[in-house]
Amino acid sequence: MEKTDLLSLPLPRLTQWVTEELGEPGFRAKQIYQWLHQKQVTEFSAMTNLSAALRGKLEEKAVIAPVSTVTRLDSHLDETRKFLFSLADGNCVETVWMEYNHGPSLCISTQVGCRQGCRFCASTLGGLVRSLTAGEMLGEIYEAQRQMGKAISSLVLMGIGEPLDNFENVMDFLEILSSPQGQNLSLRHVSLSTCGLVPEIRRLMERKLGLTLSISLHAADNETRDQIMPVNRRYPIEELMAVCREYFAVTGRRISYEYALIAGVNDDMDHADELAALLRGQNCHVNLIPVNPVKERDTKRSSRQQIQRFVERLEQRGLNATVRRELGSDISAACGQLRREHVSQSQQE
Ligand code: SAH
Repeated sequence: MEKTDLLSLPLPRLTQWVTEELGEPGFRAKQIYQWLHQKQVTEFSAMTNLSAALRGKLEEKAVIAPVSTVTRLDSHLDETRKFLFSLADGNCVETVWMEYNHGPSLCISTQVGCRQGCRFCASTLGGLVRSLTAGEMLGEIYEAQRQMGKAISSLVLMGIGEPLDNFENVMDFLEILSSPQGQNLSLRHVSLSTCGLVPEIRRLMERKLGLTLSISLHAADNETRDQIMPVNRRYPIEELMAVCREYFAVTGRRISYEYALIAGVNDDMDHADELAALLRGQNCHVNLIPVNPVKERDTKRSSRQQIQRFVERLEQRGLNATVRRELGSDISAACGQLRREHVSQSQQE
């Protein structure tokens, strides 16, 4: 019989499991949940307010599957840390720790690989291997916090994978993450980034969560966006903008648009004008990202002057835009590259 993965169960489902599978009273579930998500222990033997008999039953029927560290890169320029974490089945994902004035922030992966095929992204090169469980996503946070000796104050779902292509697990993850008996991180401090899966954006909207939705836009016309983001052929810009406007109307949460500047592709003044025209009147924010070149791709970063001209042009057109500050630039290889190097090394061995 396959053992139950306890780290992935929100409290109501854990309570049901504890009462139905173990025949124990419901309050035991709360105790177990607090051990897992507040004290963040990785062994049943550490759960010292449970009887030895109950701990024995847990060992027999359940697992806690934490992530473990394969590699950690420490920036010499700032406090940024990049982790390569291994999952129980040997797959690896990347997680990045960043220090801001408002406290530490973590960028986590939601899938092993990705099937969205964005042309400038390293995470998608080998396709999708599998989605992460809620427990594995929590494991990225707990292991990073354990290593750093402090708690995060914000979180972004911007690592490897498309979070809305792993909808149910991401929803369970957010429920556990924000629960008072768990890490208790308010969803106000969480950003979820998507390439633009329109039906799932609508499903997310219906949940009315307090998180910030980030849309990876990267082009304001369908021709350019089709070329760099295959998802645009399924959900073109008009459909994406319609759901974004609806999202704001329903949730009252301002959307953040990501725009990675790629030299010669989406970075001239016409593109800036198109972007400003597209977003005119929307209560939103634009985050410009100097693209990280990926060695398997031919994308080049726009020059510093070009990025500056692009921002100024947007501002002249009344759009609220910032250029993402680069942290840990000495270890800032594009997301997904550390995992790819690791996978190709182990295939050669
Ligand atoms: N799949 C989700 C979240 C993961 S990617 C999404 O598409 O939003 C997180 C962000 O990094 C996205 O905005 C993505 O487009 C961007 N990104 C991917 N590769 C990049 C690269 N090489 N340089 C800069 N940004 C990149």
